[in-house]
Amino acid sequence: MNVAMKFLTLGKYSLGVGDRFAHQAKAQLETFILAAEQGVEIIPVWNKSNREHVAIGSDPASTRAAADKAVEILNWRKPYHVDADHIRLDTVEPFLPHADFFTIDVADCIGRPADADHTECFLEQHPELIGKLSIPDIQEPFRINRAEVEKIVQKYLLAVAEAGTIYRRISEKKGAGNFITEVSMDETDQPQTPPELFVILAALADEGVPVQTIAPKFTGRFNKGVDYAGDVAKFEKEFSDNVAVIAFAIKQYGLPGTLKLSVHSGSDKFSIYGPIRRTLKRSGAGLHLKTAGTTWLEELIGLAEAGDAGLVLAKEIYAKAMEHLDELCAPYASVIDIDPANLPAAEDVNHWRSEQFVSAVRHDQANEQFNPHVRQLLHVAYKIAAKMGNRYLSALEECELAVSRNVTLNLYERHIKPLFL
Ligand SMILES: [Zn+2]
Repeated sequence: MNVAMKFLTLGKYSLGVGDRFAHQAKAQLETFILAAEQGVEIIPVWNKSNREHVAIGSDPASTRAAADKAVEILNWRKPYHVDADHIRLDTVEPFLPHADFFTIDVADCIGRPADADHTECFLEQHPELIGKLSIPDIQEPFRINRAEVEKIVQKYLLAVAEAGTIYRRISEKKGAGNFITEVSMDETDQPQTPPELFVILAALADEGVPVQTIAPKFTGRFNKGVDYAGDVAKFEKEFSDNVAVIAFAIKQYGLPGTLKLSVHSGSDKFSIYGPIRRTLKRSGAGLHLKTAGTTWLEELIGLAEAGDAGLVLAKEIYAKAMEHLDELCAPYASVIDIDPANLPAAEDVNHWRSEQFVSAVRHDQANEQFNPHVRQLLHVAYKIAAKMGNRYLSALEECELAVSRNVTLNLYERHIKPLFL
């Protein structure tokens, strides 16, 4: 692949943070400053998807403005990026002037069969994929026969071609090398295996997509705002093999040397942080971890912790979330596991003291009052706060001290520390 002289690269470790109401960029950036003080450079990436903008009624310019302002106030001198998260050809346009990181989502195209000529041509060009394939740091060589490779190619080739189309669209507007490219395939039913990932990377290289982060779907459930649910040992093997596949694909196909895994819905997955950390240490690989809505939950915790009007508002959001339970949960069915029997009634929550509300929502598994059902429900309830408009935003401003402290410490103590420090 012909890499341009000027090529915007992504740092080795990066953390994607979401800021639904564009009020916490400064509190989030404080986290990266704390990490830098401990000698670890982690690059902040502010990500927001089109569907989040639609739900909130915001636009990509506001994400850029909030990030720039925080960077200026705190005098952050290292790189930072604004990620057009999960964009497609029909949603990329409004992000073009404001983002310098694009998460190209092609999950919808997975499984749509590629045409026979295209598949045949790819197989002709890649005899190395057929038969025994030894990859350094993977104990057992892959053994895939021609029919199996053909099946993988048919499943993913069209998705890769779509990634190429979207990449070229962004390139036309921004100029190649002026933005970071991520390709995401996580929002689908089946996890991609390491051999599939290798075929996908070969195809992306052929397509001329200088991918720097790739988000496969991993084994297990990545529910929003709560811990990983799945076989941790299986995840560790898969994650480690994926890291090895990427290192090999960089050499084999000339993909950018900065290419690394991106873990979506990566916040709160405490039980896999140990395995991820070990793999990174052993391999020297980088990581992009995309957090999911965790900052919005810290806003609620901060409001509840502040007490008085903040607590009342947090309870009101819970009560409305209970009223609209089905409607809020439906779009997130595949990424939440809520048992309604474990959701306390709004009348009961209305009697809670500040500490009780905070304990139920804050992700501290050692606290007996922690309730993952309440936490997941509130995670998907941000539309209620969006509807409150200025009432919600003023409350954030009035309770800023408590809110920002929670936003910073959640990212630092529960995410950055176990992963990187
Ligand atoms: Zn994703």
